[in-house]
Amino acid sequence: PVRRQLSLDDYVAGVRAGDRAILARAITLVESRRAEHRALARDLLQAVLPFTGAAQRVGITGVPGVGKSTFIEALGGLLTGQGHKVAVLAIDPSSSRSGGSILGDKTRMETLSQNPAAFIRPSPSAGRLGGVTRMTRETMLLCEAAGYDVILVETVGAGQNETVVADMVDFFLVLMLPGAGDELQGIKKGVLELADMIAVNKCDGDNDHRAGAAVREYKSALHILNPASPTWSPPVVPCSGLTGQGLKALWEHIDRHRRLMHDSGERTARRQDQMVRWMRSMLEDGLMERFQNHPQVAHTLPDMESQVAQGTLAPSLAVDHLLATFTGQE
Ligand code: GDP
Repeated sequence: PVRRQLSLDDYVAGVRAGDRAILARAITLVESRRAEHRALARDLLQAVLPFTGAAQRVGITGVPGVGKSTFIEALGGLLTGQGHKVAVLAIDPSSSRSGGSILGDKTRMETLSQNPAAFIRPSPSAGRLGGVTRMTRETMLLCEAAGYDVILVETVGAGQNETVVADMVDFFLVLMLPGAGDELQGIKKGVLELADMIAVNKCDGDNDHRAGAAVREYKSALHILNPASPTWSPPVVPCSGLTGQGLKALWEHIDRHRRLMHDSGERTARRQDQMVRWMRSMLEDGLMERFQNHPQVAHTLPDMESQVAQGTLAPSLAVDHLLATFTGQE
Protein backbone atom coordinates (compact mmCIF):
# COMPACT_ATOMS: atom_id res chain seq x y z
CA PRO A 1 0.00 0.00 0.00
CA VAL A 2 1.13 3.52 -0.75
CA ARG A 3 1.90 5.35 2.45
CA ARG A 4 0.26 8.70 2.75
CA GLN A 5 2.70 11.55 3.21
CA LEU A 6 2.40 12.92 6.69
CA SER A 7 2.59 16.61 7.44
CA LEU A 8 4.43 18.03 10.41
CA ASP A 9 1.09 18.42 12.21
CA ASP A 10 0.22 14.76 11.50
CA TYR A 11 3.51 13.68 13.01
CA VAL A 12 3.15 15.87 16.09
CA ALA A 13 -0.44 14.78 16.71
CA GLY A 14 0.33 11.10 16.08
CA VAL A 15 3.38 11.03 18.32
CA ARG A 16 1.55 12.91 21.07
CA ALA A 17 -1.34 10.47 20.85
CA GLY A 18 1.08 7.58 21.29
CA ASP A 19 0.30 6.16 17.84
CA ARG A 20 2.96 3.45 17.47
CA ALA A 21 2.95 3.43 13.67
CA ILE A 22 3.46 7.18 13.50
CA LEU A 23 6.09 7.05 16.23
CA ALA A 24 7.97 4.41 14.24
CA ARG A 25 7.78 6.59 11.10
CA ALA A 26 8.95 9.62 13.07
CA ILE A 27 11.99 7.65 14.23
CA THR A 28 12.66 6.64 10.64
CA LEU A 29 12.72 10.35 9.76
CA VAL A 30 15.29 10.96 12.48
CA GLU A 31 17.41 8.13 11.05
CA SER A 32 17.07 9.22 7.45
CA ARG A 33 19.96 10.65 5.50
CA ARG A 34 17.70 12.62 3.16
CA ALA A 35 17.86 16.36 3.70
CA GLU A 36 14.08 16.92 3.56
CA HIS A 37 13.53 14.15 6.13
CA ARG A 38 16.17 15.65 8.39
CA ALA A 39 14.56 19.08 8.12
CA LEU A 40 11.13 17.66 8.98
CA ALA A 41 12.65 15.67 11.86
CA ARG A 42 14.20 18.84 13.28
CA ASP A 43 10.88 20.68 13.18
CA LEU A 44 9.15 17.71 14.76
CA LEU A 45 11.69 17.53 17.59
CA GLN A 46 11.34 21.22 18.26
CA ALA A 47 7.54 20.89 18.33
CA VAL A 48 7.52 17.99 20.80
CA LEU A 49 10.33 19.29 22.99
CA PRO A 50 7.92 20.72 25.63
CA PHE A 51 6.46 17.23 26.07
CA THR A 52 9.78 15.49 26.70
CA GLY A 53 11.87 14.93 29.80
CA ALA A 54 9.38 13.26 32.11
CA ALA A 55 10.75 9.73 31.68
CA GLN A 56 13.22 7.90 33.84
CA ARG A 57 16.15 7.29 31.47
CA VAL A 58 18.18 4.22 32.28
CA GLY A 59 21.27 2.97 30.45
CA ILE A 60 22.10 -0.73 30.64
CA THR A 61 25.43 -2.24 29.67
CA GLY A 62 27.32 -5.49 30.03
CA VAL A 63 29.46 -7.86 28.00
CA PRO A 64 27.74 -10.02 25.38
CA GLY A 65 26.18 -13.00 27.12
CA VAL A 66 25.78 -11.29 30.50
CA GLY A 67 22.03 -11.58 29.93
CA LYS A 68 21.01 -8.08 28.84
CA SER A 69 18.10 -9.01 26.61
CA THR A 70 16.73 -11.57 29.07
CA PHE A 71 17.06 -8.99 31.83
CA ILE A 72 15.36 -6.23 29.84
CA GLU A 73 12.57 -8.56 28.83
CA ALA A 74 11.91 -9.39 32.51
CA LEU A 75 12.36 -5.84 33.81
CA GLY A 76 10.16 -4.48 31.02
CA GLY A 77 7.46 -6.99 31.97
CA LEU A 78 7.67 -6.01 35.63
CA LEU A 79 7.45 -2.29 34.86
CA THR A 80 4.58 -2.52 32.40
CA GLY A 81 2.83 -4.63 35.06
CA GLN A 82 3.23 -1.68 37.41
CA GLY A 83 1.55 0.58 34.84
CA HIS A 84 4.65 2.04 33.20
CA LYS A 85 5.06 2.49 29.48
CA VAL A 86 8.51 1.25 28.54
CA ALA A 87 10.61 2.05 25.48
CA VAL A 88 13.72 -0.03 24.77
CA LEU A 89 16.37 1.56 22.57
CA ALA A 90 19.87 0.42 21.74
CA ILE A 91 23.23 1.74 20.67
CA ASP A 92 25.41 -0.61 18.74
CA PRO A 93 27.37 1.21 16.05
CA SER A 94 29.63 -1.78 15.49
CA SER A 95 26.85 -3.80 13.97
CA SER A 96 26.89 -4.05 10.21
CA ARG A 97 23.60 -5.88 9.87
CA SER A 98 21.24 -3.93 7.69
CA GLY A 99 18.02 -2.65 9.16
CA GLY A 100 19.34 -2.41 12.66
CA SER A 101 21.55 -4.42 14.89
CA ILE A 102 21.33 -7.44 17.10
CA LEU A 103 20.75 -5.20 20.09
CA GLY A 104 17.11 -4.44 20.61
CA ASP A 105 16.22 -6.97 17.98
CA LYS A 106 12.59 -7.94 18.36
CA THR A 107 13.33 -11.64 18.24
CA ARG A 108 15.49 -11.28 21.33
CA MET A 109 12.62 -9.95 23.41
CA GLU A 110 9.67 -11.83 22.11
CA THR A 111 7.27 -11.37 25.00
CA LEU A 112 8.06 -7.71 25.52
CA SER A 113 7.73 -6.94 21.82
CA GLN A 114 4.12 -8.21 21.93
CA ASN A 115 3.36 -6.06 24.94
CA PRO A 116 1.19 -3.03 24.03
CA ALA A 117 2.80 -0.96 26.81
CA ALA A 118 6.29 -1.57 25.44
CA PHE A 119 8.03 -0.18 22.36
CA ILE A 120 11.26 -1.77 21.16
CA ARG A 121 13.47 -0.08 18.61
CA PRO A 122 16.73 -1.69 17.43
CA SER A 123 19.91 0.33 17.21
CA PRO A 124 20.23 2.47 14.11
CA SER A 125 22.35 0.50 11.66
CA ALA A 126 26.08 0.95 11.59
CA GLY A 127 27.48 4.39 11.18
CA ARG A 128 29.69 6.79 13.02
CA LEU A 129 29.13 6.70 16.76
CA GLY A 130 28.26 10.41 16.72
CA GLY A 131 25.46 9.84 14.21
CA VAL A 132 24.11 6.78 15.99
CA THR A 133 24.17 8.69 19.28
CA ARG A 134 22.22 11.62 17.85
CA MET A 135 19.57 9.28 16.42
CA THR A 136 19.15 7.45 19.72
CA ARG A 137 18.90 10.67 21.71
CA GLU A 138 16.31 12.05 19.34
CA THR A 139 14.42 8.75 19.39
CA MET A 140 14.38 8.95 23.17
CA LEU A 141 12.77 12.39 23.00
CA LEU A 142 10.14 11.16 20.54
CA CYS A 143 9.31 8.21 22.80
CA GLU A 144 8.93 10.54 25.78
CA ALA A 145 6.61 12.77 23.80
CA ALA A 146 4.62 9.63 22.95
CA GLY A 147 4.09 8.97 26.65
CA TYR A 148 6.76 6.39 27.47
CA ASP A 149 7.82 7.09 31.05
CA VAL A 150 10.66 4.60 31.24
CA ILE A 151 13.38 4.57 28.58
CA LEU A 152 15.88 1.72 28.67
CA VAL A 153 18.95 2.28 26.49
CA GLU A 154 20.93 -0.89 25.98
CA THR A 155 24.51 -1.12 24.80
CA VAL A 156 27.28 -3.72 24.62
CA GLY A 157 30.21 -3.04 26.87
CA ALA A 158 32.77 -2.07 24.27
CA GLY A 159 34.75 0.99 23.33
CA GLN A 160 33.09 4.35 23.66
CA ASN A 161 29.54 2.98 23.75
CA GLU A 162 29.21 3.09 27.51
CA THR A 163 30.33 6.68 27.74
CA VAL A 164 27.84 7.93 25.18
CA VAL A 165 24.98 6.00 26.79
CA ALA A 166 25.90 7.18 30.30
CA ASP A 167 25.86 10.66 28.86
CA MET A 168 22.22 10.49 27.75
CA VAL A 169 20.59 8.84 30.78
CA ASP A 170 19.74 9.61 34.41
CA PHE A 171 20.90 6.25 35.66
CA PHE A 172 23.60 3.94 34.36
CA LEU A 173 23.31 0.27 35.24
CA VAL A 174 26.17 -2.18 34.71
CA LEU A 175 25.39 -5.89 34.55
CA MET A 176 28.09 -8.28 35.75
CA LEU A 177 28.44 -12.02 36.20
CA PRO A 178 28.98 -13.82 39.50
CA GLY A 179 32.09 -15.85 40.16
CA ALA A 180 34.10 -13.92 37.66
CA GLY A 181 37.07 -12.63 39.60
CA ASP A 182 39.19 -12.26 36.50
CA GLU A 183 36.31 -10.73 34.64
CA LEU A 184 36.47 -7.96 37.20
CA GLN A 185 40.10 -7.48 36.23
CA GLY A 186 39.06 -7.38 32.61
CA ILE A 187 36.46 -4.66 32.89
CA LYS A 188 37.70 -1.18 32.54
CA LYS A 189 37.84 0.97 35.62
CA GLY A 190 36.19 3.68 33.54
CA VAL A 191 32.97 1.69 33.32
CA LEU A 192 32.79 1.31 37.09
CA GLU A 193 33.20 5.05 37.40
CA LEU A 194 30.12 5.52 35.23
CA ALA A 195 28.01 3.00 37.15
CA ASP A 196 25.13 4.20 39.32
CA MET A 197 24.54 0.58 40.28
CA ILE A 198 26.04 -2.83 39.57
CA ALA A 199 23.67 -5.75 39.17
CA VAL A 200 25.24 -9.17 39.50
CA ASN A 201 23.05 -11.05 37.06
CA LYS A 202 22.35 -14.79 36.74
CA CYS A 203 22.27 -15.20 40.52
CA ASP A 204 20.14 -18.31 40.24
CA GLY A 205 20.51 -22.09 40.22
CA ASP A 206 24.16 -23.14 40.34
CA ASN A 207 25.31 -19.55 40.70
CA ASP A 208 23.24 -18.85 43.78
CA HIS A 209 25.99 -19.70 46.28
CA ARG A 210 28.45 -17.40 44.49
CA ALA A 211 26.16 -14.37 44.61
CA GLY A 212 27.18 -13.14 48.05
CA ALA A 213 30.90 -13.31 47.31
CA ALA A 214 30.44 -11.59 43.96
CA VAL A 215 28.41 -8.78 45.49
CA ARG A 216 31.10 -8.22 48.14
CA GLU A 217 33.83 -8.25 45.52
CA TYR A 218 32.15 -5.64 43.33
CA LYS A 219 31.32 -3.55 46.39
CA SER A 220 34.95 -3.34 47.36
CA ALA A 221 35.89 -2.53 43.76
CA LEU A 222 33.43 0.37 43.80
CA HIS A 223 34.59 1.42 47.23
CA ILE A 224 38.02 2.48 46.05
CA LEU A 225 36.51 4.93 43.58
CA ASN A 226 35.56 8.44 44.50
CA PRO A 227 31.79 8.77 44.46
CA ALA A 228 30.53 10.79 41.50
CA SER A 229 27.68 12.23 43.55
CA PRO A 230 27.58 13.40 47.16
CA THR A 231 24.02 12.05 47.38
CA TRP A 232 24.49 8.56 45.99
CA SER A 233 26.85 5.67 46.50
CA PRO A 234 26.28 3.00 43.84
CA PRO A 235 24.74 -0.16 45.30
CA VAL A 236 25.62 -3.69 44.20
CA VAL A 237 22.63 -6.02 43.95
CA PRO A 238 22.17 -9.66 42.95
CA CYS A 239 19.47 -10.52 40.43
CA SER A 240 18.36 -12.96 37.78
CA GLY A 241 16.77 -11.91 34.54
CA LEU A 242 15.80 -15.52 34.00
CA THR A 243 13.79 -16.00 37.21
CA GLY A 244 13.02 -12.35 37.85
CA GLN A 245 14.57 -12.56 41.31
CA GLY A 246 15.86 -9.28 42.64
CA LEU A 247 14.36 -7.14 39.87
CA LYS A 248 11.78 -5.46 42.07
CA ALA A 249 14.42 -4.47 44.62
CA LEU A 250 16.67 -3.31 41.80
CA TRP A 251 14.02 -1.01 40.39
CA GLU A 252 13.35 0.38 43.87
CA HIS A 253 16.98 1.53 43.97
CA ILE A 254 16.50 3.28 40.63
CA ASP A 255 13.32 4.91 41.94
CA ARG A 256 15.08 6.05 45.09
CA HIS A 257 17.89 7.49 42.97
CA ARG A 258 15.35 9.43 40.93
CA ARG A 259 13.77 10.94 44.05
CA LEU A 260 17.09 11.82 45.67
CA MET A 261 18.53 13.36 42.51
CA HIS A 262 15.33 15.27 41.88
CA ASP A 263 15.28 16.69 45.40
CA SER A 264 18.97 17.62 45.41
CA GLY A 265 18.72 19.30 42.01
CA GLU A 266 21.36 16.96 40.58
CA ARG A 267 18.95 15.45 38.08
CA THR A 268 18.23 18.79 36.48
CA ALA A 269 21.89 19.75 36.56
CA ARG A 270 22.95 16.45 34.96
CA ARG A 271 20.40 16.83 32.19
CA GLN A 272 21.24 20.45 31.49
CA ASP A 273 24.88 19.55 31.30
CA GLN A 274 24.09 16.64 28.96
CA MET A 275 22.02 18.83 26.64
CA VAL A 276 24.67 21.51 26.36
CA ARG A 277 27.47 19.00 25.79
CA TRP A 278 25.33 17.28 23.20
CA MET A 279 24.81 20.57 21.39
CA ARG A 280 28.54 21.27 21.47
CA SER A 281 29.45 17.89 20.11
CA MET A 282 26.96 18.29 17.25
CA LEU A 283 28.39 21.72 16.63
CA GLU A 284 31.90 20.27 16.44
CA ASP A 285 30.75 17.53 14.07
CA GLY A 286 28.93 20.07 11.91
CA LEU A 287 31.92 22.40 11.76
CA MET A 288 34.26 19.58 10.87
CA GLU A 289 31.93 18.35 8.14
CA ARG A 290 31.68 21.81 6.63
CA PHE A 291 35.40 22.29 6.89
CA GLN A 292 36.16 19.05 5.11
CA ASN A 293 33.56 19.73 2.42
CA HIS A 294 34.78 23.26 1.77
CA PRO A 295 36.09 23.11 -1.84
CA GLN A 296 39.20 25.23 -1.30
CA VAL A 297 40.06 23.50 1.95
CA ALA A 298 39.64 20.10 0.29
CA HIS A 299 41.91 21.33 -2.49
CA THR A 300 44.72 22.66 -0.27
CA LEU A 301 44.58 20.13 2.58
CA PRO A 302 46.57 17.28 0.94
CA ASP A 303 49.36 19.67 -0.05
CA MET A 304 49.49 21.16 3.45
CA GLU A 305 49.62 17.71 4.99
CA SER A 306 52.47 16.59 2.82
CA GLN A 307 54.46 19.76 3.56
CA VAL A 308 53.87 19.23 7.28
CA ALA A 309 54.88 15.57 6.94
CA GLN A 310 58.11 16.55 5.17
CA GLY A 311 58.94 19.13 7.77
CA THR A 312 58.91 22.08 5.39
CA LEU A 313 55.84 23.71 6.96
CA ALA A 314 55.15 24.26 10.64
CA PRO A 315 51.84 22.57 11.66
CA SER A 316 50.62 25.72 13.36
CA LEU A 317 51.19 27.75 10.22
CA ALA A 318 49.33 25.16 8.15
CA VAL A 319 46.39 25.40 10.55
CA ASP A 320 46.36 29.20 10.32
CA HIS A 321 46.36 28.99 6.56
CA LEU A 322 43.60 26.36 6.40
CA LEU A 323 41.36 28.22 8.82
CA ALA A 324 41.86 31.43 6.87
CA THR A 325 40.91 29.58 3.69
CA PHE A 326 37.83 28.16 5.40
CA THR A 327 36.59 31.44 6.81
CA GLY A 328 37.48 33.33 3.65
CA GLN A 329 39.69 35.74 5.53
CA GLU A 330 42.58 35.47 3.17
P1 GDP B 1 23.02 -10.63 26.12
O1 GDP B 1 23.96 -11.05 25.04
O2 GDP B 1 23.72 -9.86 27.19
O3 GDP B 1 21.80 -9.95 25.61
O4 GDP B 1 22.54 -12.00 26.86
P2 GDP B 1 21.21 -12.88 26.65
O5 GDP B 1 20.08 -12.29 27.38
O6 GDP B 1 21.03 -13.17 25.19
O7 GDP B 1 21.61 -14.20 27.43
C1 GDP B 1 22.76 -14.96 27.10
C2 GDP B 1 22.61 -16.36 27.64
O8 GDP B 1 22.53 -16.36 29.06
C3 GDP B 1 21.35 -17.06 27.16
O9 GDP B 1 21.66 -18.41 26.93
C4 GDP B 1 20.39 -16.91 28.32
O10 GDP B 1 19.46 -17.96 28.38
C5 GDP B 1 21.32 -16.95 29.52
N1 GDP B 1 20.79 -16.12 30.61
C6 GDP B 1 20.33 -14.84 30.50
N2 GDP B 1 19.92 -14.39 31.70
C7 GDP B 1 20.14 -15.38 32.60
C8 GDP B 1 19.93 -15.50 34.02
O11 GDP B 1 19.45 -14.60 34.71
N3 GDP B 1 20.30 -16.69 34.59
C9 GDP B 1 20.83 -17.70 33.87
N4 GDP B 1 21.15 -18.82 34.53
N5 GDP B 1 21.03 -17.63 32.54
C10 GDP B 1 20.70 -16.48 31.90
